[in-house]
Amino acid sequence: MVRVVIGGGMSGLVCAIASAKCGHSVILLEQNSRVGKKLSATGNGKCNLYNVAPQGCYNDNQFVQGLLARYSVDDVKQFFNSIGIFTYADSIGRAYPITDNANSVVDCLRSVASKLGVAIFNQTALAVRPNKDGTYAVTTNVHTHLCNEVVLACGSGSQANLPSLSQIVPQSYFTSTSPSLVPIKISNMPKMVNGLRLKTTVKLLQDGQAVCSRDGEVQFKDYGLSGICIMDLSAHIARNHVAGRNHTYQIEMDLCPRLSEAQLIDELTNRILQGVPTSQLFYGILHNKVAELVMSFGKTEVANIVKLIKNCTFTVDRLLGYEMSQVTAGGIKTDLLSSNMQLPNGVYAVGEVLNVDGNCGGYNLLFATISALCTLPQTNKETILSK
Ligand SMILES: Cc1cc2nc3c(=O)[nH]c(=O)nc-3n(C[C@H](O)[C@H](O)[C@H](O)COP(=O)(O)OP(=O)(O)OC[C@H]3O[C@@H](n4cnc5c(N)ncnc54)[C@H](O)[C@@H]3O)c2cc1C
Repeated sequence: MVRVVIGGGMSGLVCAIASAKCGHSVILLEQNSRVGKKLSATGNGKCNLYNVAPQGCYNDNQFVQGLLARYSVDDVKQFFNSIGIFTYADSIGRAYPITDNANSVVDCLRSVASKLGVAIFNQTALAVRPNKDGTYAVTTNVHTHLCNEVVLACGSGSQANLPSLSQIVPQSYFTSTSPSLVPIKISNMPKMVNGLRLKTTVKLLQDGQAVCSRDGEVQFKDYGLSGICIMDLSAHIARNHVAGRNHTYQIEMDLCPRLSEAQLIDELTNRILQGVPTSQLFYGILHNKVAELVMSFGKTEVANIVKLIKNCTFTVDRLLGYEMSQVTAGGIKTDLLSSNMQLPNGVYAVGEVLNVDGNCGGYNLLFATISALCTLPQTNKETILSK
């Protein structure tokens, strides 16, 4: 049985290794000069491989839960152990390799694939054609490979070039897409806060109503806002774009999370009574750049100043593009898939090419891994998880 896997990212490498463990002859096609290019950049170079608590963190939680029922997080850990990747989880459940180094993950995946006989070709898959005898012909820019099964593991256009897939799967299989886990452009972004980093709580307001919130470090840029908590909020907007739902959005944040509203009112009232000049009013309370921002609104009443500090809002202009996004929301429709990840045209599809996107925190690599393992019969699970 020959399996061609298109794409040498996490999903393609895991699929190739697991397939080879189960006795398939595997050909892995990767358009780049090396496999795992995006993987090397994940988790700021540390590779947040999975999350120990993956419940409720995807656009399609029900679909992912179905896969997790077949390969649990413990199974994923065991699979990685079986190929020499050892992991630990931090205090909020994000699992990393014990090397804290994404390149070492890529090295393990590549070398295990080679040891198991996976043939890796640096070629771009252009077309997949079914033959009358049930086999497939996969045409690349160099060669045509004959095989019994084809797995599409080509990822998305997020920080990558995605060649046309129109000769591999029909366009009708796809939803619309949007960049996700991406910085957010703010309308009229105040320039004085450029470069600021602030640990706080951010809320996404959709048509004026809070729809989700996150704690974390906000990075203020000249164009808008970034940071993991902001990127998580972007996922909500991206999923709405994919579903064709149009809304207006604002991001609300607390510019002084360590003091309560009452404490701020008390402190500022005292300072004003003592005649502290406006330019010195926020000394010791707010970062200078935040103080400058607050003063730029020209509020004079303490209640209004405190409201502005505790509920400062920024109007969302748009999400930044694919070149800045960590994942793509939308993709191949999951309701087309059989339980072993096969599409109606017989091609298997795994990883980010599917309409599944997770929040920041290891959820996307976890999905890439479990979806790849689910292309093989459950009866092979023990073989897949053993050394
Ligand atoms: C900067 C950054 C940091 C990230 N950090 C994390 C993190 O820490 N944790 C996490 O869970 N997620 C993270 N992600 C998201 C995660 O990397 C992706 O969700 C995951 O890599 C998707 O895996 P994949 O195998 O489906 O796709 P990819 O990793 O994109 O791999 C697809 C591969 O297919 C190749 N390809 C495409 N088309 C063809 C073709 N026609 N022929 C041959 N080859 C082809 C591509 O070149 C690519 O190598 C991050 C993403 C980015 C951009």
